Amino acid sequence: MLMRLRPKTDLRTLIAVLVIASIVVTLTNAMYATWRVQRMVLIDSTLEANRAYAAKLASTTEIFFQLAQSQLHYSAKQLGNDFDDVKLLTTEVDRLREQTSSFNSVAVVDTNGIVKAISPESLTLKGMHLTSDASKEALAVRQPVISKPTLSAANNLIVFVSWPIWDGEGRYLGYIGGTIYLKKKSILNALLGQQFYRDGSSVYVIDSNNQVLYHQNSQLIGKVLPAIISEHEREEKPNGSLQISSRDEKTRLAGYAIVPTTGWMVVTFKPMDVTLEPLSGLLMKVLKHSVPFALLTLLVAVILARLIALPLWQLARKASKMDAQSVSTEISVIRAWYFEAAQVKRALLTGIGLVQEKIGRLNSEAQTDPLTQLFNRRGLNAVLDYYQTMRQPFAVLALDIDHFKRVNDTWGHDVGDNVIQQVARTLTASARQTDVVCRNGGEEFLMLLPGSAADEASVLAERVRKSIANAWIEEVGNITLSIGVAAWCGEDVALEVTLKQADAALYQAKQAGRNCVCVSGKSVSLLSQTPH
Ligand code: GH3
Ligand code: MG
Ligand code: MG
Repeated sequence: MLMRLRPKTDLRTLIAVLVIASIVVTLTNAMYATWRVQRMVLIDSTLEANRAYAAKLASTTEIFFQLAQSQLHYSAKQLGNDFDDVKLLTTEVDRLREQTSSFNSVAVVDTNGIVKAISPESLTLKGMHLTSDASKEALAVRQPVISKPTLSAANNLIVFVSWPIWDGEGRYLGYIGGTIYLKKKSILNALLGQQFYRDGSSVYVIDSNNQVLYHQNSQLIGKVLPAIISEHEREEKPNGSLQISSRDEKTRLAGYAIVPTTGWMVVTFKPMDVTLEPLSGLLMKVLKHSVPFALLTLLVAVILARLIALPLWQLARKASKMDAQSVSTEISVIRAWYFEAAQVKRALLTGIGLVQEKIGRLNSEAQTDPLTQLFNRRGLNAVLDYYQTMRQPFAVLALDIDHFKRVNDTWGHDVGDNVIQQVARTLTASARQTDVVCRNGGEEFLMLLPGSAADEASVLAERVRKSIANAWIEEVGNITLSIGVAAWCGEDVALEVTLKQADAALYQAKQAGRNCVCVSGKSVSLLSQTPH
């Protein structure tokens, strides 16, 4: 046979497990979402900060070059009228270098490329012929020029800024030009260096050939880097940001901006791992703030789980003993405080009512003789059990219809049944409230008389005998009974013995000629007898 195993897990445990699982899932999800969002925020804000910083540095550089050019422009105008006054030229180049601090050196060069004045004088280039590309370009184009960064004769990476000099009649006289050192200390270097590198960020200034013009590590100046954005992108978007990943280097977040006058590009970098460093601390903080609340939720949930599970648990325990007498009262006091529990409680109470009613009905059906509605043998046993438990003394009458077979034979079985019913009614009518009448089978009856002794019982037996003998029964006329009497005094004598004694007395009564009462243990002569 297939045995269904009883589930071991209870509702309270199930709810608790469910709550713990949902808290863990929610917490994990919250942590993951926080991680995702914060990572995105950190990356986006770093990209934007890098872009803004690059744009600011680019605009500072742009302003610096415009200023440098306007300073040269002013000097060129001054010198156009007195180009041959060497003293004036010398004073002007000194003023320009020292007062403005824009240039590391300043020179005035004539149309042949000969240096007419130079500051500082220590460069000893005065009167010499300048053959650098930047000088040749300035003389050739006769326009303001900002040179490409180049290595000077003294091995300095420099930028040369020049402005043409014209006299009052519009004749070209030469140019005034200033150099800016990129590697050594210069005003441009100082402007770009005003930043903090503590967070792993770095700044590069590169020219259009990706040659490094500025970096806090001066070793890198002059080196050529791999291009970070294409020429096309440069033109499309003069400032922006991007993530740079390469196989041999860690991912970096970059911002860039173009300096319009020179075409240089300022690039700011921050490594991705440095950017994301605050993330783990942040997650720990989220966890620290969430855990107490999660524990509180858990506590509340466990208490709630207990409250929810309690009525169902109590109802379930009672459901296993629905036939017990007190179970209805016990179920009635269970506090079913929510809909489902209340419904189950109601259904159980209804069910118990039905079960117990059914059991009661079955009990009384099982203990009643259908023909006479008297107790049958089983009912009699229940009463005897009760007397024995209560040690209740009683007398017993064993009654048997005389020559009943003849009734059946003469008038038929149905008439025989009527006679049995008539006798049952007469016995019931003769009995006291507390007496018990039962049909012992066939045409035999038993009467239990609680609290009666044998003498008292024999008096009642006699009365019964007479009333039967005197009763006129339809079709049949008169019938008679023989009665045996015995008594149980509540002592240690088995009840069966007393019943057998009553039977024996009945047998004696039959032997004595029927229609008489015989008391167990007494001689037949004591019996009254009325001949039929
Ligand atoms: P005695 O005076 O010795 O008691 O003689 P008796 O004929 O009454 O005794 P016996 O035990 O020989 O016969 C009893 C008869 O009762 C036999 C049976 O047919 C009949 N009987 C038993 N139960 C019923 C019943 O329920 N209905 C009817 N009509 N007859 C029954
Ligand atoms: Mg009989
Ligand atoms: Mg009989």
